[in-house]
Amino acid sequence: KIVVLDGYTENPGDLSWEGLERLGDLTVYDRTPADKIAERIGDAEAVYTNKTPISAQLIKQCPNLKFIGVLATGYNVIDTAAAKAAGVIVSNIPTYGTDAVAQYAIALLLELCHHIGEHSDCVKAGEWTHNADWCFWKHPLVELAGKTFGVIGFGRIGQGTAKIAEALGMKVLAYDEYPNKALETDNCRYASLDELLAQADVISLHCPLFPSTEGIINKDSIAKMKDGVKIINTSRGPLIVEKDLREALDSGKVSGAAVDVVSTEPIREDNPLLGARNMIITPHIAWAPKESRQRLMDIAVDNLKHFVDG
Ligand code: NAD
Repeated sequence: KIVVLDGYTENPGDLSWEGLERLGDLTVYDRTPADKIAERIGDAEAVYTNKTPISAQLIKQCPNLKFIGVLATGYNVIDTAAAKAAGVIVSNIPTYGTDAVAQYAIALLLELCHHIGEHSDCVKAGEWTHNADWCFWKHPLVELAGKTFGVIGFGRIGQGTAKIAEALGMKVLAYDEYPNKALETDNCRYASLDELLAQADVISLHCPLFPSTEGIINKDSIAKMKDGVKIINTSRGPLIVEKDLREALDSGKVSGAAVDVVSTEPIREDNPLLGARNMIITPHIAWAPKESRQRLMDIAVDNLKHFVDG
């Protein structure tokens, strides 16, 4: 018996659950509220979750459970110590969205440089002429070739963004707690955090959220950046102290910022980034092209197959 607690099934036909259907008796729920989790897992041996938490107490309540599959990279929703103690295998999916998130981070940067959406809206509203009010003057374009792309967290996604930035003619500076010199190229080298902050024209965040990285973009680190720097965050919202970024956007110190993640999700009405000038905010969707979601499903099926095969 296999139960998917939060398969987000409201878009039927979007993804295929066939692979899991072939492995057992499958039930897929759209979402599962906290008070229904134990009842829905029941006597199932395998459970899949994306965001629905599986606590130590739940693991105790479901003695048949042998396998927990997390339909995501981050597995902080699982009490892994309790799972281990109960002999329940936990699997996650670390690589399905690397290219998608790297592409998205660069898409955010390109939108900050070109304001394509706003220019298109102006044309559709009847504005084409080159007069003093022309929206072009409000949203000047920026060329990236020759500029410096700073990557904080040079792992899978950070390296992916760097490759695209290099293809755009940018120089890359990378900061990582565990540098791997073999990844350096003519246009890409490691730097200290302070050197990166001082030299980058664009800073893109790709480190995980740890106590050591929480608030890594704050008043002090922003003060060390170039005037007019652009900041991209597709990693985790709490990496940025949002009120400090808002002040820097208001003063013009940061010329533009684009984030796919915020400190509290869904975003709160009083989030200081809402309403800031030159600020793009999207709802944590960088991972989600259909191709990468299907890859996520395929790897999820493989993980269970490997488990069943011992
Ligand atoms: P990864 O593990 O391959 O890379 C993370 C890198 O950060 C590693 O090289 C690691 O050494 C480095 N690092 C760790 N601690 C650091 C520190 N204190 N300072 C600097 N670097 C540090 O992970 P990844 O697959 O590249 O994913 C990166 C992040 O992207 C994830 O942690 C996740 O938060 C985020 N993510 C977001 C989405 C989305 O939809 N927006 C999707 C997937 C992943």
